[in-house]
Parts: sequence; structure tokens; C-alpha cells
Amino acid sequence: MTYGLRRFEGYGALVTGGARGIGEAVTRRLAAEGARVLIADLDEEAGRRTAEDIEGAESIRCDVTDRAQVEAAVAYAAERFGTLDVLVNNAFACSEDAPLLEDQSDELWNRDLDVVLTGAFRCARAAMPLLARSGRGAVVNIGSVNAEADFGNHAYSAAKAGLASFTRTLAGDAAARGVRVNQINPGTIRTSAWAGKDPVLEALGRGAYPLGRVGEPEDIAGAVAFLASADAGWITGATLRVDGGLLAVNRHFPALIAAAESGAGG
Ligand code: NDP
Repeated sequence: MTYGLRRFEGYGALVTGGARGIGEAVTRRLAAEGARVLIADLDEEAGRRTAEDIEGAESIRCDVTDRAQVEAAVAYAAERFGTLDVLVNNAFACSEDAPLLEDQSDELWNRDLDVVLTGAFRCARAAMPLLARSGRGAVVNIGSVNAEADFGNHAYSAAKAGLASFTRTLAGDAAARGVRVNQINPGTIRTSAWAGKDPVLEALGRGAYPLGRVGEPEDIAGAVAFLASADAGWITGATLRVDGGLLAVNRHFPALIAAAESGAGG
């Protein structure tokens, strides 16, 4: 896709989990606006296929739970692009809750926190010297509406809420170095995480989302590009919901009142 905007000419970017889904759409959007983008993904083959399809993109295998692999990915981006201006922390793990909390394992709890929260910390730590040197450095963390309300998944939700806190403390820390740090909290987005569940997505779109549909990866990519760009040059420490109105609008409340009142009158 071609965009009128070319906000990232001469930029280097790194997107974790960029092989598919939201990360792929972010990679496409940043590259379409002129950036060179390194996809740092656990799935090496998928990362390579996606990068081959996007002009300006490259890929490297990277597990964000491994400090050495994260540092190698950041070093590779710096070597290939000569600069690193944008970091998008997008990789995630989300474990199913056990039916009873007492059966929840330490392993799954720790895994979600390790990928989502500590992974973002590892990437930011490795990238910060380069982001600071860039003079226009920006970190965009991909959170979730789960950071703000209960949609299940204890560990994932706690990790995403922790990520919003890290977004704020890092924004404070990095501001003096000219680096902005923000977070996007997406609602339901049609990606492989929902593969084979189109009827569920249609029902959610009609029933839960005020704007009448679930999100597409491009909805998030547009917001990431904004927060990473000079257009957001005075925004830091912010969390932006991109959720079709899910958390702001409660349609059930007035509907229940109307139903009860018509019942009472009839
Ligand atoms: P996808 O599953 O489509 O893609 C995620 C990618 O991240 C995969 O390629 C995956 O590789 C990779 N990945 C997983 N673990 C690691 C790791 N340890 N290191 C590096 N890469 C890794 O995800 P989505 O596009 O759906 O989600 C992207 C982000 O958006 C996540 O942060 C998620 O929490 C957030 N989000 C998504 C929502 C949705 O409805 N889709 C809603 C709200 C937030 P592999 O497949 O090999 O595991």
C-alpha cells in the first residue's frame, strides 16, 4: 500500500513479533512511510517470508525472553540501518487461566510476564543508547484493553497493566534523553490469535463494539505510526486505547434501563 505520508524517511525501526498480525501491519506501515524495519520474531521462517514481501524490511530470529538474542537483534539493526529510531514492543504470550486459581502454575504465570513485560524491558534497555543518540527516538509498547479491565487471562492482563506502568516510568526516565515512550491498548484485532473464530469476531463486532466491528491490524499500525512519528512529538507517557469504543461506551446500561422501563409500563 502507498501512503501520502513519508514520516520515516531515513529511520531505522525494530518490531518484535513482526512476522504476522499486528507486528506485520506495523512493519508494512513504517516501511511504506520510508523506514527500514527489522522484524525480530521467534518464528524465523515466518519473519523471513514477511520481510521478503516488504521493501525495506529485514528479519532476525529473536526471542525477547533471551537477553543475548535481544542485544544481538538491536546490534544487527544498528549495523544494517546505521540508526535505530523506533522500537515497537509487540511480542506477547497469553496463557489460558486454569478453571480454578489454585491450579494456576507458576510456569505459565511467569511466561506471560517474561515475554510481555520483561521482554519489553529487555528490548528497551538494549535499544536505549541508540534511541537516545537518534534525537527522535520513540518506543511504542503494544498493550491491551486487558490492561484496563477484566477480560480474563490473569497473567497476561497483569503483564499488560505492568507494561503501562513501565511506559510511564520509562517515559520519565527517557525524556531527558529525547526519547518518547507510549503505549497502545488494542481491543479485539483480527489476527492469527483468532484464527478459525470468524463467527466469534462477527458476534463481538456486532454485540460488544460501539463502532460495529472488531479491529484490523491496520487500525493499530496507523496509531503506532502516529505515536512513533514527529506528529506525536509532544506526547510521552501516554496510553492510547484503540478499541472501537469498547471501554468508553456502555451500551448495555441504557438498553437495560429502556427494557426495564418498557416492561414496567406494559
Ligand atoms: P500474533 O500471534 O498474530 O503474532 C505475534 C508474533 O509474535 C508471532 O509471530 C509470534 O511468534 C511472535 N512471538 C511470540 N513470542 C515471542 C517472543 N518471545 N519473542 C519474539 N517474538 C515472539 O499476535 P497479534 O498480532 O494478535 O498480537 C500482537 C500484539 O497485540 C500482542 O502484544 C498482543 O498482546 C496485542 N493484542 C492483540 C489483540 C488481538 O485481539 N489480536 C488484542 C489486544 C492486544 P510465534 O507465532 O512463533 O509464537
